[in-house]
Amino acid sequence: MGKIKRIGVLTSGGDAPGMNAAIRAVVRAAIFNGCEAYGIYGGYQGLIEGDIRRLESRDVGNIIQRGGTILKSARSQEFRTEEGRAKAAEQLKERGIYALVVIGGDGSFTGAKYFVQEHGIQVVGIPGTIDNDLYGTDSTIGYDTAVNTAVQAVDKIKDTASAHNRLFFIEVMGRDAGFIALRTAIATGAEAVLVPEIETDLTDLYHFIEQDYNPKDSSGIVIVAEGEKSGGAYSIAEKVAQVHPNYDIRVSVLGYIQRGGSPSQFDRVLASQLGVAAVDALLDDQNSVMVGIMNREIVHVPFNKTIKHTKDLNPELLSMVRILSV
Ligand code: ATP
Repeated sequence: MGKIKRIGVLTSGGDAPGMNAAIRAVVRAAIFNGCEAYGIYGGYQGLIEGDIRRLESRDVGNIIQRGGTILKSARSQEFRTEEGRAKAAEQLKERGIYALVVIGGDGSFTGAKYFVQEHGIQVVGIPGTIDNDLYGTDSTIGYDTAVNTAVQAVDKIKDTASAHNRLFFIEVMGRDAGFIALRTAIATGAEAVLVPEIETDLTDLYHFIEQDYNPKDSSGIVIVAEGEKSGGAYSIAEKVAQVHPNYDIRVSVLGYIQRGGSPSQFDRVLASQLGVAAVDALLDDQNSVMVGIMNREIVHVPFNKTIKHTKDLNPELLSMVRILSV
């Protein structure tokens, strides 16, 4: 592989706070290393359609603190097809771009893996998703901010729960993974946490709530990940209400506020480190890998590996929720 002259960067899948900080880092690290940087707008769909513009250092000024992604994101059905990926490769080759940084989740890396195999474009991935469900990195960009947002919201709800002796079921994001739910539960002192990875034992939950919550003189908070298998916060709350009609139960679904907002300092620094590491990896001829951070060290994880493995919840943190709510 010859020396890289041009590096493209795109964001794909769900947006996450800190993606802008990663774009900025990729663009500036590319320029620092004597390369031209190109922003691809609208994820893989924008790549297929050729929405590609040169980015200078100043074009990524004043974005490190902004949520969302200046490059926009999209889900592209066309990129799932060989024809779509061939069009995308043509767009890059026409512009002399043979190296690409993809900021996204495991779906984006699956697409990237095929793209590398079929078209010889060199791709390095940066984990950008609020869910933190990527194997091979301790934290994904956006996760810390999303948890902070959820914690602030739950703290507010706790005030009203406490004022009225209510039992709240609060649903946080996480269709397939309970990382946001678990961390939020610990940080807010919740009575229980329900996650997609573990089947909810309702008898256990009733028992647990009976111990902790009394509608006459106490309040309670249960954090529920949206992908909880028995149907999420509304469904669980209904079941509990049937068994305990005297409970003053409320449900709150936090929803999209968890995706937006200014990234935390943690996500800004993580995104900056991973952006620089992604450009370094490209210049070192690495290919089809995600850059991550494990135990404070930069790591390079093959796309195959991060796609195939799932990251487990920390069982010690799970048992802590119970220990700390006695
Ligand atoms: P998030 O975790 O935020 O959902 P993600 O990267 O997993 O992020 P997806 O919507 O799954 O988000 O994937 C983003 C894009 O990657 C898809 O819209 C599609 O264009 C491409 N992609 C996903 N899976 C594949 C696949 N199996 N083959 C080719 N391309 C894919």
